[in-house]
Amino acid sequence: SISAVTSPFRGYLNDLYEKYKSLNDGKVADYIPELALAKADWFGVCVVSRDGQVFEVGNCDQLFTIQSISKPFVFGLALEDCGRDYVNSKVSVEPTGEAFNAIVLDEVTNRPYNPMVNAGAIATADLIKGNGSTERLKRLLEMFRRYTGREHDINVPVFLSEKATGNRNRAMAYLMLNFGMISDKIEETLDLYFQQCSILVNARDLAMIAATLANGGVNPVTRERALDERYVQDVISVMLTCGMYDASGEWAYRVGMPAKSGVGGGIVSLVPGKLGIGTFSPPLDVKGNSVRGIKVCEDLSRDFGLHLFNAA
Ligand code: GLN
Repeated sequence: SISAVTSPFRGYLNDLYEKYKSLNDGKVADYIPELALAKADWFGVCVVSRDGQVFEVGNCDQLFTIQSISKPFVFGLALEDCGRDYVNSKVSVEPTGEAFNAIVLDEVTNRPYNPMVNAGAIATADLIKGNGSTERLKRLLEMFRRYTGREHDINVPVFLSEKATGNRNRAMAYLMLNFGMISDKIEETLDLYFQQCSILVNARDLAMIAATLANGGVNPVTRERALDERYVQDVISVMLTCGMYDASGEWAYRVGMPAKSGVGGGIVSLVPGKLGIGTFSPPLDVKGNSVRGIKVCEDLSRDFGLHLFNAA
């Protein structure tokens, strides 16, 4: 196990960083100007074991917006707020094989396909309880504090840009309103969705979030519960089937870890019962996943036998 090889593991992580730091494939997201400010050479990797040991290399203090990585955790809060049956009646859990911003709903039930694509994430945000957008956002920030052990804030310019340019997401929201899948508080729900995407985190936060899930929903350092134990399995399983956009099948095959990526360059991945991984590197491949982050997770999976279905 990783804790049994503490100091060699630090050396291993440093080598991994060196191995991939000059891999210059991919492109920094630039659909809003604020994201294009990210430096292509920012690169951080952090691993947190189930017992709270932290191993890190590179830019693990650099803040960036969480973006789609927020989606599984907001799904978890929606499950706590509304219960599994109600949430399932509004959002399916089926992978799409389509891009994360595809404007598509299930033809039979009119539900968005899963909480990891934008339509499903907007329907999920709609379920978050609270009196008005301020209180609902506060509940999200408070949830992320429980996962990371640290206070969080949003990047306001990113939020305002997402809101100003988010007409594709607005179109999905109206389509779902047409089918009665979400409430008519469209702008409030979209604000909450754009705000959740704008929450600032670093690679260490991502690893701590992942380790919290790997530890059954309890932060391994603060010992605070972040997610009701009844819903830990729900969150982890949609990450496995839908977390890497339309590359989720290939990721499950090659890496075999439940994971979630975001266009800010982060990836969260975990080995249930063992450890959490957070990676940060802004250049993305064509599907929107961090190029160096994928490489790091492939290596960790192979070198430590972390694939879920490794029967060795
Ligand atoms: N906020 C962006 C959107 O809604 C990006 C989400 C993501 O990380 N894919 O389009």
